[in-house]
Amino acid sequence: MTTVPALAELNFVVIPLLSTSHLIPLADMAKLLAQQGVTVTLVTTALNAARFTAAIDRAIRSGLVIRVVELQFKGKDAGLPEGCENHNDVPGLNYRRQFFAAIDMLQEQTEKLLEDMKPKPSCIISDAYVAWTADTADKFQIPRIVFDGMSCFNQMCKHNMYILKDQNKIPESGTFVIPDLPDRIEVTKAQLPPISIQQEQLSYKIFRGNKGSFDKEDILKKWLDSWEPETVVYACFGSLGHITVVQFVELALGLEASGYPFILVIKTGEGQAPIEEWISKNGFEERTKERGLLIRGWSPQVVILSHPAVGGFLTHCGWNSTVEGISAGVPLITWPLFAEQFLNEKLLEHVLNIAVGVGSQAIVHLGEEKKFGSQVSNKAVTDAIKKVMDKEKEGNKIRKRARELGEMAKRAVEDGESSHLNVMLLIKEIQEFQLNQSAKNALV
Ligand code: UDP
Repeated sequence: MTTVPALAELNFVVIPLLSTSHLIPLADMAKLLAQQGVTVTLVTTALNAARFTAAIDRAIRSGLVIRVVELQFKGKDAGLPEGCENHNDVPGLNYRRQFFAAIDMLQEQTEKLLEDMKPKPSCIISDAYVAWTADTADKFQIPRIVFDGMSCFNQMCKHNMYILKDQNKIPESGTFVIPDLPDRIEVTKAQLPPISIQQEQLSYKIFRGNKGSFDKEDILKKWLDSWEPETVVYACFGSLGHITVVQFVELALGLEASGYPFILVIKTGEGQAPIEEWISKNGFEERTKERGLLIRGWSPQVVILSHPAVGGFLTHCGWNSTVEGISAGVPLITWPLFAEQFLNEKLLEHVLNIAVGVGSQAIVHLGEEKKFGSQVSNKAVTDAIKKVMDKEKEGNKIRKRARELGEMAKRAVEDGESSHLNVMLLIKEIQEFQLNQSAKNALV
């Protein structure tokens, strides 16, 4: 007789894309699943595992069953420079093919590991960009759950525009309304993400490596503690987003003219020299040092957003940053750059009503930033910041709504609430699948 498998006998194999903003949410999901009592196996490479060892180790020490399995990344065989194991560290667009070739090379190793794994894999949760995991799941006759990394709102918009409707009706210029949505969402063709994953891969360009680290959290905390609640603007363009020096100047001057204290995250690495040159020649850092904090490299974003001093988040609308901003209950100043970020901006500004845009006009694909020149002026940045930070008029309404949504987001992950329930339902589905599989095998 077949019996329902115990939770610890379920093994969720999590395979993220080797890209920081894809690793972060899947590592979080691994913890969420393990908190429900299932076994989780996180499959990645040594250098990527090192990025979240501390967080995972803490989870393991607290009793969660998470195993990190390290694969050998054969970047060199694929033509990548030594030590380049993460999308964010790929040194230029020309290396994109090699990076994805090296990702493909992980299939064989992974499958060997899965063969001997105990408990047997129950399902694979893998990034949409790690396409071979579909074949692997087929081989092992287990479900593959695709991690897309983007919002349902974006999926719905794409579905209504590209699948239900005749694409030829999308005008080349000017705005049009996305059909069949409960809210009136206007976009231009230039703001739309590519149609399908295949095409998106085509345009999914690689940003020059930016990994640095901000290890002065005590200084940061003191700095944040020194400001009144909800007065600081935090500005960051994610892990991949990249702006030219022309746009950086507008952003910096816009922040300065707003009069609010600010934290500005500046990427390090290749291609950043013109920005650093401008900062020192212009005297921006020196001039704003009383109320501006420049973080070079990697900032502890979630920590910053949760500090009471932060009153606004100037973001490129990457989905992780969007969710982090909403969960922190912080209103947003939106400056979308690429992929589906304009649709995320629409969601924030016109559906959730917790954001003001700086007026970014068209998608700037990664690696093609120089083609676009200046889209946003410093005045537009200042105006948007003032609107959001203003305690009297519109800002007050936006802030109140952002707070409410932040509370809702926190509630959603509590026991028995919607997000928590969805995790439980997913586990139950895999449990039932495994039970049915065993019953079928018993009949053979
Ligand atoms: N992030 C961070 N510090 C940085 C830059 C980014 O912690 O200096 C994190 C941020 O909190 C988010 C992720 O990196 O979790 C960026 O993901 P998002 O989807 O917003 O943007 P992408 O990097 O994919 O453009």
